[in-house]
Amino acid sequence: MGMKIYNSLNRRLEDFEPLNPEQVTIYSCGPTVYDYIHMGNARTALVTDIIRRYLLYKGYNVKLVQNLTDIDDKIIRRAAELGISVKQLAHQNGEAYFEDSQRLGIQPADVHPKATEHIREMIDLIQILIDKGAAYVVDGSVYYRVDQFAEYGKLSNRKPEDLLAGARVEINEEKEDPRDFDMWKAAKPGEPSWDSPWGKGRPGWHIECSAMAMKHLGETIDIHAGGEDLLFPHHENEIAQSELATGVTFARYWMHVAFLKIDGKRMGKSEKNFILLRDALDHYPTEVIRHFLISAHYRHPLDYNQESLTKSEGALRRLNNCLDTLKQYDGEVGLNEKTDVPLQHAVQEMKARFTQAMDTDFNTAQALGAIFSLVSEVNKAFNTLDEMAAPVLAEAYQALAETCQVLGIYNNVETQEETGDNVEQRDELVKLLLEIRQEARNRKDWETSDKIRDRLKELNIQIQDTHHSTTWKFTTK
Ligand SMILES: [Zn+2]
Repeated sequence: MGMKIYNSLNRRLEDFEPLNPEQVTIYSCGPTVYDYIHMGNARTALVTDIIRRYLLYKGYNVKLVQNLTDIDDKIIRRAAELGISVKQLAHQNGEAYFEDSQRLGIQPADVHPKATEHIREMIDLIQILIDKGAAYVVDGSVYYRVDQFAEYGKLSNRKPEDLLAGARVEINEEKEDPRDFDMWKAAKPGEPSWDSPWGKGRPGWHIECSAMAMKHLGETIDIHAGGEDLLFPHHENEIAQSELATGVTFARYWMHVAFLKIDGKRMGKSEKNFILLRDALDHYPTEVIRHFLISAHYRHPLDYNQESLTKSEGALRRLNNCLDTLKQYDGEVGLNEKTDVPLQHAVQEMKARFTQAMDTDFNTAQALGAIFSLVSEVNKAFNTLDEMAAPVLAEAYQALAETCQVLGIYNNVETQEETGDNVEQRDELVKLLLEIRQEARNRKDWETSDKIRDRLKELNIQIQDTHHSTTWKFTTK
């Protein structure tokens, strides 16, 4: 069975076939950097991360582009409140975004284009639309003429009359039609602005994504992702601009991530109803937060509350205990091929269920279900298995480690005692110290050699010299 994706454009599950089988292209609408991101924003970013990880796991090449909106009304307002420049505020919050994402184990996109670095591309795109009669200039601002695009409303499934009724009653006498939207805003005093054929001004939000997506991924992209709040008008407008300009499909699969709720209400800055990702990360390990955020399918609602986080904490403890115990069998795979224990079937079943869940519109909730069923099976089996079962336990370890890594809930194995240290890095450091010690021994510098041994011992790392090498292990306090 191949992969299926729920395409918001056609409102149904569709077979996923990338335009170029060699490389899947993904554009994901990134943050507007006026503040730190909250857990709701993190859900969207994490879903994109998991889509990419899974596609890589399936053997695809992936090119992911995620923009940073570094110029907009909110940024201008916030910078003025703080008395710093727009550039400085956008830079600070952009850096904070990367820091937070990294703490959540989100791998950076292949390109993180910034709006202010693509003014040229946006102006070119707007000019094409003006030349086609799809946009008009009024006093230095440029508006998109919605009635020129016959398919306007196809993503949000709205008819022209609904759109007219729904268009916000805002006093803007410049617009020919209330549905029209701005692509270029004439400069206001004190605001950052750029030169354009229509005078000084700055780009609108929608044109930014059209221009940057097409610049970095081409006229047609495979997957366009974003939060469900972006479906209308942002994504509808992206389609209108891009498709009218190029005459071809802009994005083939539209994916929208549902809101995160808190106390039953949508998490959001404007409602002052939110938890910052960085605050959550101060209280819970990365894997716990990831587990929580993917514990529901991305199109389903998810509620942020203490109980859910505590549940995820418990689940991760169970998972880590199981993996820690299994890990000692790693490497014994295939030593004894003639094992026939029920656990072997459980491992195969888990892999099949995991793939089926993820193949069906990235259903992480079901994928986790498959993983945790195997954890239960392993725990049951531990008590009854004999030594002959070691290869099966090794298989179970590998299957669990691999699938958990796709979801990013088993990256750096952090157990409770290890207070968040990066285990791999620690091992490398110990190795480095042992190398230095060996060099000291080679030149009979016993003082240095003993000092390294003693200091490691203080850190509960015991080393043992054998004939050929030096090994190390942790001792209990
Ligand atoms: Zn966008």
